[in-house]
Amino acid sequence: MENGNKTIAIAGLGKIALDQHVPAIANTSGFRLAATLSRNTSLEDIPGFTTWETLRATGPRLDALAICTPPQVRMELAYLALEVGLDVLLEKPPAATVAEILALKAAAKRQGRVLFASWHSRHARAVPAATAWLADKKIRKITVTWRENVRQWHPGQSWIWQPGGLGVFDPGINALSILTAILPAPLAADLHVTAADLEVPENCATPIAARLTLAAPGGLEASADFDFRQTGIQTWSIDIETDSGHLALQAGGADLFLDGQPQPNDPNRGSEYEELYRYFARLVQSRRSDVDISPLVLVADAFLLGRQIPTEAFHD
Ligand code: NAP
Repeated sequence: MENGNKTIAIAGLGKIALDQHVPAIANTSGFRLAATLSRNTSLEDIPGFTTWETLRATGPRLDALAICTPPQVRMELAYLALEVGLDVLLEKPPAATVAEILALKAAAKRQGRVLFASWHSRHARAVPAATAWLADKKIRKITVTWRENVRQWHPGQSWIWQPGGLGVFDPGINALSILTAILPAPLAADLHVTAADLEVPENCATPIAARLTLAAPGGLEASADFDFRQTGIQTWSIDIETDSGHLALQAGGADLFLDGQPQPNDPNRGSEYEELYRYFARLVQSRRSDVDISPLVLVADAFLLGRQIPTEAFHD
């Protein structure tokens, strides 16, 4: 891949940018990190800017921008970046609303820029093998269990609890991004939410737990259990009963079990984010966008159909 001369900036130097994006860009050959855009944080050896205007006026020439801010403030920046001719990678979820991401998709097309609405969990190491195994199976039942400790993974992130922050759907949408990627066609497109219970702390705007029922024509049974209150062992698993065996994806898509037997992992795969940046580099090179909004549509529909259940206040 000869994208090494492509320059990229990261916007929103928070937990995921520092934990994953900065090392993944350094460890892959697609891009060179040339600048950061963040109000309160910068990196020692990379030019840092606190506003878009100063980045544009005095920053280095850029080919691309990776936007890692919370979803509520992602659209305007993405729009500005596309307008001045940058290719754009969006962290998940790609926007705070369906209309926002559809507008960005249209803007990218108008400007002839590459837009990548990334779903990092789709690059987890066992996802390709799960997709291949399911391709010729008839799916009978799907059970998603995504339970994690919000205090461990999202300390002090007040935006998660504000409108547009998604609450427990912030991790839950990762499960849905895997599910919509591994299910064979046309099931992935047919899957839809039919009911949702949303437990919302009395001092928050977004749910701390959610239970979804999903369906597809042909009598598929599917459910998802998302919970932010899990202490001890964390659970990120998808179980699928088929006409010829049982698939379990565990550890957020890292480990695959078929009929209970652990499957070998591809030793050549990099981390989720290294694979994500390799894929973005291929998109940029071939001038193709990838904007799959199906996980966001399922979450939006859970909010549309969801029954709100007030629950005790959450304090970080
Ligand atoms: P975070 O730690 O809160 O970082 C987000 C950064 O965005 C902040 O540090 C802040 O940097 C900047 N920002 C700009 N405008 C902001 C605003 N209005 N409110 C708050 N911050 C603002 O969040 P994160 O965990 O990195 O998550 C960011 C995105 O990545 C989310 O969409 C999340 O779903 C996704 N993600 C997170 C994880 C994870 O494990 N945490 C994993 C995968 C994906 P400045 O103050 O310096 O501007």
